[in-house]
Amino acid sequence: PGTVLVLGAGQAGFQVAASLREDGFDGRVVLVGEEPGLPYQRPPLSKAYLTGKADAVAVRLRPEKFFTEHRLELRAGERAVRIDRVGRRVALASGESLPYDHLVLALGARNRALPVPGAELDGVVQLRTLTDAEGLRQRLERAGEAVVVGAGFIGLEFAAVAAARGVAVTVIESTDRPMARSLSPAMSAFFRDAHERQDARFAFGATVVRVLGDGRATGVETADGRRFPADLVLVGIGVVPNAELAAEAGLAVADGIVVDEHLATGDPAISAIGDCARHPCRFAGSDAPVRIESVQNAVDQARCVAARLAGRSTAPYAAVPWFWSDQGALKLQIAGLATPHNRAVPRGDPAAGAFSVFCFRGGRLAGVESANRPLDHVFARKLLANGADLTPEQAADPGFDLKALAA
Ligand code: FAD
Repeated sequence: PGTVLVLGAGQAGFQVAASLREDGFDGRVVLVGEEPGLPYQRPPLSKAYLTGKADAVAVRLRPEKFFTEHRLELRAGERAVRIDRVGRRVALASGESLPYDHLVLALGARNRALPVPGAELDGVVQLRTLTDAEGLRQRLERAGEAVVVGAGFIGLEFAAVAAARGVAVTVIESTDRPMARSLSPAMSAFFRDAHERQDARFAFGATVVRVLGDGRATGVETADGRRFPADLVLVGIGVVPNAELAAEAGLAVADGIVVDEHLATGDPAISAIGDCARHPCRFAGSDAPVRIESVQNAVDQARCVAARLAGRSTAPYAAVPWFWSDQGALKLQIAGLATPHNRAVPRGDPAAGAFSVFCFRGGRLAGVESANRPLDHVFARKLLANGADLTPEQAADPGFDLKALAA
């Protein structure tokens, strides 16, 4: 069976290693990760970990003995620096080189840096790793006023936690609504309202041009000259896929490592999965391949590659995308790729605190956004998987039996 070498020991890297064993793969499995310690989940870092409800042990994907019991060779704290496709070896920063028969790139993504003067000041932080989260949790204990740059999922999850602690939070966003890249206007408006009721403030259409302060951040300035005081500035303006290793090895890269429907790169001995990969997806609005940043995508792609490498399945990757984000008392769930869409139909009552938006593209269901309506989400995933024919009129009709259609 040979050696499967996995680069990146995050959600996708861990899963491919674990699934290889579940699928009966008997060769060597080596997992190289540049972060120290055991692989962990990122979602709690902006949720339970920040509130103190979860610690570093609770966020671990598995305890240490899982790795020894399953003969998964974890090389934590090691950075891969070069892929030699001809010799089928990977060089590590330590100088060591590791052989492979199959290489899985699960390198994830890194936070986009805020490209303005002052971004290096103390008190300007980002959130991606457990180390980031530990630092942020300590700063949050002392913070009085926080500015969040970017009204995306992570920024808003942080804003909800900070506001609940009594920190004065201002979210600065260059578009005109929260989570604009991913959500319908109706769902954005619902979340804006909810955050404002928790005393967070928004500045839309505003671009941060500088972080103020001398040594320590004291606030930010926007392009229109406004100044927002802050002793803590959280930057959440998106990520950049870690694709350099692949590009340097001559693999196709276009905002992510390009893979086919089996998640293989142009080199049949190399696959790529998770946040770093761009794959063809039948749930997308066009034929262009997509790069999806979610736990579901990382886990299901890992399972698909493991099944192929273990000789279990040759089926292409076809999982329905889904995602969640917890913001204060609200749980947002998205099934499918709801954006772009040309018709958005509400179901349920926003005023009652729970509703969904069914998004249609070219007359077909593209995705469903739900806020505190978990059953809509469950049924939507089934409808999308089955390709069921739901009409906008049915979606809007509170009496229509979604469960029956999804069954
Ligand atoms: P990662 O988990 O980022 O793992 C990649 C690993 O590769 C990293 O540990 C990195 O250090 C390592 N690496 C990179 N380069 C090298 C190298 N050269 N050598 C060795 N190792 C390397 N998704 C949801 O669905 N729901 C949520 O609520 C949610 N919340 C989130 C909250 C936060 C704060 C963050 C940061 C993400 C959240 N996500 C959420 C997204 C989700 O965590 C990611 O989509 C998922 O972790 C992607 O898995 P991955 O394995 O592709 O990448």
